[in-house]
Amino acid sequence: MAYTNSPMVAYTKLSPNHSGQRTHSIDRITPHCVVGQCSAEGLGDWFARSSTQASSNYGIDKDGRVGLYVEEKNRSWCSSSNANDQRAITIECASDTSEPYAFRDVVYQTLIKLCVDICKRNGKKKLLWMADKDRTLNYSPAADEMILTVHRWFANKSCPGNWMFARMGDLASKVTAQLGGNASAPTPAPTVSVPETDGEKYIWDTLMGFIKNPYGVAGLMGNLCAESGLKANNLQNNGNNALGMTDEQFTAAMDAGTYANFVHDGYGYGLAQWTFHTRKAALLAYAQNKGTSIGDLQTQLGFLCQELEGYATVLAALKSATSIRAASDIVLTQFERPADQGEAVQEQRAAFGQIYYNRYVNGSESPAEKLTSGYYRVRKSWADSKSQVGAYRILSNAKKAADANPGFSVFDPGGKAIYPAAAASTPVAPEPAKDTPFLVRVQISNLNIRTGPGTNYPRTGFTGVGTFTILEVRSGQGSTAGWGRLKSGAGWISLDFATRI
Ligand SMILES: [Zn+2]
Repeated sequence: MAYTNSPMVAYTKLSPNHSGQRTHSIDRITPHCVVGQCSAEGLGDWFARSSTQASSNYGIDKDGRVGLYVEEKNRSWCSSSNANDQRAITIECASDTSEPYAFRDVVYQTLIKLCVDICKRNGKKKLLWMADKDRTLNYSPAADEMILTVHRWFANKSCPGNWMFARMGDLASKVTAQLGGNASAPTPAPTVSVPETDGEKYIWDTLMGFIKNPYGVAGLMGNLCAESGLKANNLQNNGNNALGMTDEQFTAAMDAGTYANFVHDGYGYGLAQWTFHTRKAALLAYAQNKGTSIGDLQTQLGFLCQELEGYATVLAALKSATSIRAASDIVLTQFERPADQGEAVQEQRAAFGQIYYNRYVNGSESPAEKLTSGYYRVRKSWADSKSQVGAYRILSNAKKAADANPGFSVFDPGGKAIYPAAAASTPVAPEPAKDTPFLVRVQISNLNIRTGPGTNYPRTGFTGVGTFTILEVRSGQGSTAGWGRLKSGAGWISLDFATRI
């Protein structure tokens, strides 16, 4: 599709700050807050200086006028992420200068119209807000889908500000309604990858101790992965949108006793995304009785096992299952019971289960020669799903297809490149340069302190709300912004939850 620019543009001043033509077709929109009630001309002057080293495709000024600074065909320098900006239209919106960085109504109304226009010209019928970063970034949008992303997922900043962040779902549904599409959030495609998460092995070991059958545990975990991404503090996305809270903020509010509507709010929560009011009331009572956070993994696993005792048919089937698919299907249809229990969902959940089975039963994660669920896919890259030349149950057949197509690799159902060997190794990213020491503010009460830079290091406690000095920054598992070493010597914290001051 040829790239075009919006007819809504009232002022054009092209910025030198861009990377030339984008390398990925447009399937994302990223709204930003300017942190200032600027004019289209003022923003254009700022982006026109090469020393600014930043730009956006469009700006919406304080009066709702649209400025064009980087043509849609080009990749702007806006969201602290090359991968995002190669495929996103970035829009800077005039805002207040402090949290929640509110937009004037005329700006927000223009943003809705501009998103409708961008979607139409780029062949999209739906604008989707999935709220969850991992789910969004792992999602392969259909040809007619546009996805919303936010700058805060890629850098240690609030952008687009809490005002706009709370309205992302509203923006998506209003734009989709004007496009005549269906506003419901998508079911993740079977190609969602499953990165190894904090606590995953602990979940496997705990459930193995209870169920004592790896097929049963894999089938159950595949379902938990589909429900929550194995995140014990996961609040259903429409709950995040409606309440304007992240999973961490919601769990902190629950633990502080400041959110009273948990049992009856209808939002799924936790590993199994418990939704029905009697099950949520029982989970809450269980956590209160234990004296732990409601988002505590160990507590939820204890509750899950207790609940399964009451689902005698399901538990017996998990203990005696002879395939992942059989175990997964019974959890889907008799325990989780989501609205969509169709073949695609069954296939997907069993494929997730196969990944855990390979990881913890086949030990070294050496790929199985024959898959019973999911497929080995042969593509140029995992993200480039359109390049796929085939999907195979038998590994040797997938390898033959890769050999016949130079530059192609075999990917396991989790999206990991496993053949040829060179494609399977990931280069190590250099450590980001940061000026240290610096001060950060932490505004959540339960930010974990760990013994090292990553979620793969044990927790030693919480920071509490306050200001802390960071002596050193290193990249590590589970944090986009990196890990900061506390001056106190207590350990390391994720800078995703800290604001530099
Ligand atoms: Zn931004």
